[in-house]
Amino acid sequence: MTEQARVFDTTAILNACPADMRPGGHAAGAFAVQDAWQRGPTEIVLELGNGTGDYVSVHVHLREAGAQRFRRTAHLDICHHPRRGDGRVDRGSAEARALEQLGDALERADGPEQRWLVPEPQPQQARKSRKQTQHAPQYLTVDAACRLHCVFCTLATAGGPDLRADDATFTALQAEVDRLVGRGVQSLYVDGRDPVAYPRLAALLDHARARGIADVHLLTPGTRLADPEVLDPILRALPPRHWLHLPLYGATAAVHDAVTGVPGSHAAVLRALELLRERRAAAHVVLVSVVTRQNLHELAQIRDEAARAGMTWRPHLVYPMAGGRRQQYRDVAVRLTDVQATLATASPPIHLPEVPPCVALSSPRVARRAMTWNKLPTLPGATARDGATPASSANAAVLPCPARGTCAAAVVCPAAVYADYIDLFGWAEFQALRPSDLGVATRVAIAAHRIAQAFASTGAGETHTR
Ligand code: SF4
Repeated sequence: MTEQARVFDTTAILNACPADMRPGGHAAGAFAVQDAWQRGPTEIVLELGNGTGDYVSVHVHLREAGAQRFRRTAHLDICHHPRRGDGRVDRGSAEARALEQLGDALERADGPEQRWLVPEPQPQQARKSRKQTQHAPQYLTVDAACRLHCVFCTLATAGGPDLRADDATFTALQAEVDRLVGRGVQSLYVDGRDPVAYPRLAALLDHARARGIADVHLLTPGTRLADPEVLDPILRALPPRHWLHLPLYGATAAVHDAVTGVPGSHAAVLRALELLRERRAAAHVVLVSVVTRQNLHELAQIRDEAARAGMTWRPHLVYPMAGGRRQQYRDVAVRLTDVQATLATASPPIHLPEVPPCVALSSPRVARRAMTWNKLPTLPGATARDGATPASSANAAVLPCPARGTCAAAVVCPAAVYADYIDLFGWAEFQALRPSDLGVATRVAIAAHRIAQAFASTGAGETHTR
């Protein structure tokens, strides 16, 4: 029998999970890993969710005498903690089947010949990871119904059911806030189709603030905020550090309403923005523009209007979602080269960090500007995750860029593209850059990135065996 040694970390445990339970690789509605983190040298937490608000946390421990468990493999104890209902997992339920499947996979990965290497605790790293948890916003999904029909929305179930105001729903949402606070979270992204449609949102935000949540980003289609009776209780409940992310998909009603599919939605969002200005909340507004075929020509105008209103503007590319309606994406996605050509002719040019260096730098007007790029594979907008957590169920599959091995800009580039994008437009745009193709600003950014990486890798942890 050959002994196998592996470090006991989230990567090893995620790799041991069944392929269709790994982040991004599962069918819509099925339980899969949505988050994973190392809770200590001998404990890893996997959070399984099915995208409809049901969660079960699975704790995988290296053997601990006396621990309660639902499964025991050669060296691991596996426990679970359902987040909803009475804390039990019903025999034969989807959760029970997912747990069984996960247990089988871990049992196969953890044979008697397995030897786990335990990372030596690094006090500095531990402090950093705690700090990261506190400061990286985590998602609180309040999935109430949206009344827009955006042309780019790839959600398999657009619209969605109304989230009821009953006590059981409210208690479950409060419990989710408490769970996040228990993990040290202080900053929330409140998302869902339209969380503002949830009748008890203000009370839930009150609860979050009382529990110590210091920052809230509220992501909403915004039309309901045109009613002061909806807006004002929410503004009162938010902590002082808050941001309201509202869509502005066109500078004109014709374009905005064509993107949302709802006549009057532009007027409604403008009314909401006017109310926010009257309440001196403009600095708390982030205007979000998803770039589609329909609105590409109005992006510069939207940018200028946001600047005049004193509001932050965040354009981003349309994105596919795992298990979503792929045709929607195919109908509205724009070739990156065409996006870049339009952005580069704006005055001043618009820099969209999702356009990779090889495409952005092909435009002579922007080649010498200081730019940064997202290190994440093409951001899925409202549900983007930071690099420390696995991709969420919302993330569609990405393909690695075939030129990344020889490209001088690969270090500051996601070097990965949505598979659906490549289906549509192919790889022709993604040509490896030479150092001489890069402007001074980009070379400085790459040098800084390399130095930061070198510092991060010094003092890497020893391992010992268990
Ligand atoms: S790594 Fe690939 S996607 Fe990134 S800049 Fe280079 S060629 Fe473009």
